[in-house]
Amino acid sequence: MLQLYIPLNFLGVIYREIRQALTDIERMFGLLGQPREIADKPDAGSLSADNATVRFEHVSFAYDPARPILFDVDFEIPAGKTVAVVGHSGSGKSTIARLLFRFYDVTGGRITVNGIDIRDLQQDSLRQAIGIVPQDTVLFNDTLRYNIQYGRPEAADGLIDHAAAAAQLTDFIGRLPDGYEARVGERGLKLSGGEKQRVAIARALLKDPAILIFDEATSVLDSRTEKAIQAQIDLAARGRTALIIAHRLSTIAHADEILVLDQGHIVERGRHHSLLAANGAYAQMWRLQQQEADESGPRA
Ligand code: ADP
Ligand code: MG
Repeated sequence: MLQLYIPLNFLGVIYREIRQALTDIERMFGLLGQPREIADKPDAGSLSADNATVRFEHVSFAYDPARPILFDVDFEIPAGKTVAVVGHSGSGKSTIARLLFRFYDVTGGRITVNGIDIRDLQQDSLRQAIGIVPQDTVLFNDTLRYNIQYGRPEAADGLIDHAAAAAQLTDFIGRLPDGYEARVGERGLKLSGGEKQRVAIARALLKDPAILIFDEATSVLDSRTEKAIQAQIDLAARGRTALIIAHRLSTIAHADEILVLDQGHIVERGRHHSLLAANGAYAQMWRLQQQEADESGPRA
């Protein structure tokens, strides 16, 4: 009796932690102002995905029916591969990430993971399979440890240290009198945009999910930190199904497929070298960024 009781009780704790984490993740999207209830179907399946193949099948989407945002977006991320999405601000990149996380349901077409429409999956099971570094990270009014750990509340200290190191946080945490126990957020330590982004990266790496989404995850880091973290992101993405939304094209040149999004349409797609050879929108963006890099001198 006792033997049975303990694990069940333990599961209860974990379950509450997970529920809390999911609520918090939703808040991180900064969209709680307009929550949209998406209920599980009564017969929703759960995802047991070590290997996850993600497909967007002719996906269209509008936040507001009068203003479509995505048109016939169609691509596949085979298990273990990396697909990058690039494009101007407002082209719909973050919307793609939100749809995969099922913060909204598609207007047309469908999104599948291992062939299952994500509307037929339990949301918890989908979201447990996804680690996401959103464009703007909101931290919780709790300790640094809680903020790093919450996608995986049972994680051992060694793993937390490892994730913090990969996200280039070791020195920063070492300098805090309270270390991991320092309170952050509105009622605690104010972190810079770059520090918050690194906490979100540590959290995603610690969670060790089948699917990783990075939405301009290094956009506010200085170039030296960005370089160090980029190497860790590449390492984490290896062997995992990854969707990487990037501002700086040099960070995604190795992707298995690059999608160029323009006003909600995929206007070009392919690998880095073939896109350069095609001399279209991607090549133009690339040249522009090379020029900017030259003008600002060699990067640290
Ligand atoms: P990107 O990430 O490429 O900059 P987004 O996917 O964030 O682009 O946004 C695409 C378009 O959708 C933009 O025109 C933006 O204004 C609009 N949009 C984004 N979020 C919302 C929302 N919650 N409600 C209505 N419109 C939105
Ligand atoms: Mg965006």
